[in-house]
Amino acid sequence: MAFFTYSDKFYLIFVQINLTSYKRDKYNFSVKLRREVNGMQNSQFSKFQESVDENLIRHRSILDITSKLQEANARLNRAIAKAVTSCGCVTIKGELQSIPDNISSYHDMKDYMSNHLAGDLCSSCKDAIENELGRCLFYMSALLNVFGLEFDNIIKKEQSRIDTFGIYRLS
Ligand SMILES: [Zn+2]
Repeated sequence: MAFFTYSDKFYLIFVQINLTSYKRDKYNFSVKLRREVNGMQNSQFSKFQESVDENLIRHRSILDITSKLQEANARLNRAIAKAVTSCGCVTIKGELQSIPDNISSYHDMKDYMSNHLAGDLCSSCKDAIENELGRCLFYMSALLNVFGLEFDNIIKKEQSRIDTFGIYRLS
């Protein structure tokens, strides 16, 4: 750098800053363009994906994203456990599912399947669980962005599978 004058140095810094913003804009543009090419509507999910792309700075590596997603999932489980063991607004009573022998169809089973949960979430626990679910969605969106996938596409495909296979989809 000894050979450069002060004005050269300023010019190099200027070029560097512009290259960085060009790379960022190019990536953001490709996210938007991909949506347009796929004919995706400007849904809440796609807006959210775009916001995640614009605001995820530190943890853009696939390694950070997958491990942060796992961490978010663990925090969600922790928030659910705390609603039971620390707050007590809900209780869990796990037991064998009791299904009568004389039910006429597989679909009717739903009426006899228990979620083993009793009570209602208080506002504090509801808030905590919503926050952790939001964090899961954030890193899930980041994962989709890394692979160039669309929330809307995935929901559409899964909806199609549900419509096709119905109750046999994830029994
Ligand atoms: Zn609670």
